[in-house]
Amino acid sequence: MTERSAPCFSEVSALLRAFPRWTLFIHQKADGDAVGSASALFEAGVLLGRRVRWMGPDASLPLPYRFLPHTDEYLFREELAFDDTGELYVFLDSSNEERGVRGVGGRAPGTVVLNLDHHEDNSRYGTLNCVDPSCSSTTELLYRLFRAEGWTVTATIAESLYTGLVTDTGAFMFSNTTPRAHRMAADLLELGVDPSRIEAHIYHNRSLKAMALWAQALSRIEVWGKDGEFSLSWLSHGDFAGTGSQAADTEGLVNQLLTIRGIRFAMLLSELEPGRVKISFRSEEGMVPAAAVARSLGGGGHPRAAGATLEGTVKDVVRKVRSALEERHAEWAAAH
Ligand code: AMP
Ligand code: MN
Ligand code: MN
Repeated sequence: MTERSAPCFSEVSALLRAFPRWTLFIHQKADGDAVGSASALFEAGVLLGRRVRWMGPDASLPLPYRFLPHTDEYLFREELAFDDTGELYVFLDSSNEERGVRGVGGRAPGTVVLNLDHHEDNSRYGTLNCVDPSCSSTTELLYRLFRAEGWTVTATIAESLYTGLVTDTGAFMFSNTTPRAHRMAADLLELGVDPSRIEAHIYHNRSLKAMALWAQALSRIEVWGKDGEFSLSWLSHGDFAGTGSQAADTEGLVNQLLTIRGIRFAMLLSELEPGRVKISFRSEEGMVPAAAVARSLGGGGHPRAAGATLEGTVKDVVRKVRSALEERHAEWAAAH
């Protein structure tokens, strides 16, 4: 089967080749796709003789992804200033610049930013934007770029790419799982990827503390709606502190709510700092899109998996998100 390359690939490749130094950025609450993309592009840069740095707004990367190459070189972005015009800034898997560099001052004039992403709602903040929502993951976009431009895909790059693919597709079960995603997986297996090794690192690596946090959330699930199709749970700052858990420990938890029979829309509220609540939204087919509810609360994301952050007590935010969901769902149902 012939596959058309995204129209941006030759420009992306030319830009990457033009700069001897790259800084890679990933989004806040790093996931497998963000880490996998940066790890793969880091290695590709090293192979091209580039000096590469890697930064993000989280203090450290989640442990389950630290088996990937170059994760030791990840730097907390606090010290960064955009004042070096001899460097290319590459944003990966970040739908807007703020998610990657929240808290950093404005860019100096002349800063060149390459935006590589697959989010439909990407705000196109780059000097060059290569955004392809037909890709399941940013690592699928990178894989297509590497293939189109004839760049070497080593066995370790293949592992990084596979990590983004497997995590963003929910282990090939979410609706973004396409024939092309499976073909990419097959190619990566031929390059030496061992799926069971990656599965062990990513999915069999939960701490007992994280499990105690999950127990809290699973013990207070609320279900409501006309057919009992909505659900939510929450975690207070005290739950994180009391169990010794971190934001990254909630990865995958909201999806558990969707496994309850009849639930079609799920939300998880996490009070990451006192008075600052991160919400994860997930929706199924035939339901108001998660992204529509997230957007109405100032967030965004993919149609079926989205997020937002609100100020307030957990109790206030629960009230707000419940009514936002009910309102957006009523609008959506009236139009469908
Ligand atoms: P999460 O629930 O954190 O796993 O996020 C699901 C998806 O929603 C991510 O892939 C992001 O694209 C998006 N997302 C999460 N938080 C935000 C936010 N505060 N603003 C915009 N998009 C977000
Ligand atoms: Mn991501
Ligand atoms: Mn992604």
